[in-house]
Amino acid sequence: MIAQTGKTQKQVQVLATYTFRNRNRVCFTVLSSNGSDRYNTCFDNGRGACSCPARGGCYHLTQLAPRAARIIEEQETKAANVRYMYSEW
Ligand SMILES: [Zn+2]
Repeated sequence: MIAQTGKTQKQVQVLATYTFRNRNRVCFTVLSSNGSDRYNTCFDNGRGACSCPARGGCYHLTQLAPRAARIIEEQETKAANVRYMYSEW
């Protein structure tokens, strides 16, 4: 156990990441803070939705939003590279 100073911050535990081909959508399966429930946190065109009981935003959405944005960005880069490769033929 690592001793931490200050308040302990909840850290999202991601169990799985899902991406959707040709869609601006990323979903995560996350473990709840009690360690027994699982929720789905999804981002559709940057709009987040979470299946956990928290209303009006939760730490899943807050912490996973930048991660989802990065995944979408990487996918777009990949897609652009594919298009570029095809145009070479
Ligand atoms: Zn949540």
